[in-house]
Formats: sequence, C-alpha cells, structure tokens
Amino acid sequence: MTLTINTMTDTLKDHPAFDGHETVIMAEDTDIGFKAFIAVHNTSRGQALGGCRYWSRYRNDDEAITDVLRLSRGMTYKNAVADLPLGGGKSVIIGTPGTRHPTAEMMQAIAKAVNAIYGQYVTAEDVGMSVDHMLIARGVTRHVAGLPIEVAGGHAMPDGLNPADYPHADPSPYTAYGTFQSIRAAVKHKMGRDDLTGLTVSVKGYGNVARTLCKYLAEAGAVVTVSEIDDGRIAQAKEDGFAVLDKGVDIMAHKADIYAPCALGGDITPDSIDLLVSAGVKIVAGCANNQLAVIDRDSKLLTGKGILYAPDYVANAGGVIAVGMQHVWSDVPNAATFPTHDKTMMRVGNIYKTLLEIFARAETEGKTTAQVADEIARERFSVGKSGKVDMVAVAA
Ligand code: NAD
Repeated sequence: MTLTINTMTDTLKDHPAFDGHETVIMAEDTDIGFKAFIAVHNTSRGQALGGCRYWSRYRNDDEAITDVLRLSRGMTYKNAVADLPLGGGKSVIIGTPGTRHPTAEMMQAIAKAVNAIYGQYVTAEDVGMSVDHMLIARGVTRHVAGLPIEVAGGHAMPDGLNPADYPHADPSPYTAYGTFQSIRAAVKHKMGRDDLTGLTVSVKGYGNVARTLCKYLAEAGAVVTVSEIDDGRIAQAKEDGFAVLDKGVDIMAHKADIYAPCALGGDITPDSIDLLVSAGVKIVAGCANNQLAVIDRDSKLLTGKGILYAPDYVANAGGVIAVGMQHVWSDVPNAATFPTHDKTMMRVGNIYKTLLEIFARAETEGKTTAQVADEIARERFSVGKSGKVDMVAVAA
C-alpha cells in the first residue's frame, strides 16, 4: 500500500464551493483503489469534527470535491449552533462502483490521511460507515469519534457508572431524536400544537436515522408514509408497519402536513417546492444534509410559500452533539465531562429550544430560518469573537 497525500487548498481557491477552507487534501492509494478528500473548513472553535462519507456514485473527482467542501463548511455551522467546542471538517471516499461500504484497507488509508494533517480533523461516521469501520480507523489514528465509549478515549471509565448509562456508539439514534425534536418545534411554531396526533409526515429514505425517527413519529401519533429506493429497506419499513410508496412515485407530491427529507440532500428546488405546496406541506424538517439545492433561493421560496423550514444542520445535529460530547470526554476525561446517555439525550433535546428561537427571530426580523441559523453560527465561530471554546465548560 502506498498512500500519497496532496494538498489542494491553494488550487481550489476559485472553486465555486470553496469558502476560505483552511486545509483540503487528496489522499490516494492506487494499489487498493482508494481515493479520498479531506476538507478542514474552520478550526476557530476547536478541532474540525465531521463524518467520513463513502459514496460510489460520484461521476468524477469534482463532484466529490464539491461535496466535501460543502459538507465541511456545513459542519462548522452545525458544530457552532450546537455549541460544541469543535470546528468543521469532512471527508469523502470515492467508492468502488456498485459497493456501499469501504474495505478495511480503505479505512486504514483514510486514517493515515487523517494523521497526515496532525489532528486538525477528527473523523466519524457518515453515509456508508458503521461503528466497525470507525474501529478499524481507530487502530491507526486517535482522531476518530463515535466509538464505543469504552475504547473512545483509551483510558479508564469513571467509577460508579452502570454500562446502561453509557451513550450509544452509533450517532444515528441521537440524530433521529434531534430530528424528531425539530419536527415537534416546527409544529409548535407553525401550528401552535404540542402534539403530533393525526399529522401526516412524508419521510424520504428509510435508513439508519429515518427508521428510528419513524418510530418516534408513530409513537407520537403521527401518520407516516415512507419512500425508499433500496429493496431491503423497503421490506424493513413494511415489516415495521409503515406505508411505503411504490418506487418511482415522488414522495414530495404526496399529500402531507410535514415533509422529512432523510435520504441525500439537494432535493428542495423551485420545482419540488411547487410539488410540496400542492401536496399541502407546511413544514420541511428532516435529517438529510444540504437539503436545499440553492440555500438562499430555496429558503426564500419556502418562506414565501408559507412553508416553515427547520435548517438542516440544526435539525440533524443530534449525532454530532453525541459524538462531540464523547470526543470532549476522551480528551478531558473526568466524571463531569462523561457523556451519559441521559445527559446526551438532554443536550440533543435542546434542539427543540434552539429551533424555537430561530423560528421566532426569523419572523421578527423578516429573515429566512436558514439566514438566522447561519447568523447565529457565524456569531459563534468568527475568529476573535468567540475564539477557542472552553471544552470542559461546554461539556459540563
Ligand atoms: P443511510 O444511508 O442509512 O440512509 C439513507 C437512505 O436513503 C438509504 O436507505 C437510501 O437507500 C435512501 N435513499 C437514497 N436516495 C433515495 C431516494 N432518492 N429516495 C428514497 N430513498 C433514498 O443514511 P443515514 O445515516 O440514515 O443518513 C440519512 C441522511 O441524514 C444523510 O443525508 C446523512 O448525511 C444525514 N445525516 C445522518 C446522520 C447520522 O447520524 N447518521 C447525522 C447527520 C446527518
């Protein structure tokens, strides 16, 4: 295996998705068919934390670069609004056609690439990854988050804790809980209701996050309809008792009160907003990253059509809050920083309050919810304003 690392930061300065990123590298090992990009967007609040995505449908390098630049920028905003003492970064591995998960050798290669940028970036799970993949990376680099808590820090657990108090290693259940809270907050703001009984929710994608989200929604009395492209997951959704649209039927045109995008991003466009309006959708709140094809244009269009949008990176921050809390504990290990499951759920549950504040401020100031979320993030990560954050104070 011969890994080569090339710095691309300067050559990407004119790229449309470039936004003052601090570091961008390409890592390649042709012997094992490995090519990946790591982007560190901003470290003013701390190490750049963001998942590693494995995706085999990039048609060329530029699509992967655009993805990593956009996703890493999004992580800076997400980590800042979530009030984590962490900056924003991301990595993408260009997958082998027809595969959904990386090989062990690929995980070792990405971990070596993470080491090559000296801890500027901490990796974690994203699409195509599982805890097992992260454990392979942990064998090569310590800059990995989202592991079983017993191995996350490489040091002893605090005394007196029951393993039942430990947080999940998999961030998806926390992302699902945060997305559920974002739907509750949007319903509260838009409809003045504290409950979801009888509300109809269209959920696009039935993956790791959506499955748990659908369970929360059903338990809260909402009527859920799912769309999926993967046969195994379609079968799973039906087995779990959910209505699944036939393949090829556009869920955005399906009558519903709420649309929850939980597949990949970018499906909110002027055309699809027209579909949502005709379908009677009043709220867009889901876990997918980068839901709006063009943030400014599409958030204004949604607002203009009376659809309340829960900014994606606020709604889906549950997983990174959990992973970030675990990372803080692994760096500063003591009883106060230990992220019990209950403490993690409480922090994730704050997404409800954060979104109510964003919705109210957007209404008062005549702005879109996306603009307000960005403003709050920038207030927090601008160098010289907040600067580095006290990790222990934030974690406690
Ligand atoms: P996942 O891969 O388990 O699920 C995504 C699902 O969407 C898959 O089942 C896939 O078949 C389906 N899908 C893809 N295109 C589709 C389409 N056009 N129509 C219908 N279904 C489609 O991923 P996940 O972990 O559940 O994450 C879902 C989204 O949430 C992603 O955008 C991810 O980046 C984002 N997200 C996830 C987390 C997390 O904790 N897992 C955190 C933040 C954001």
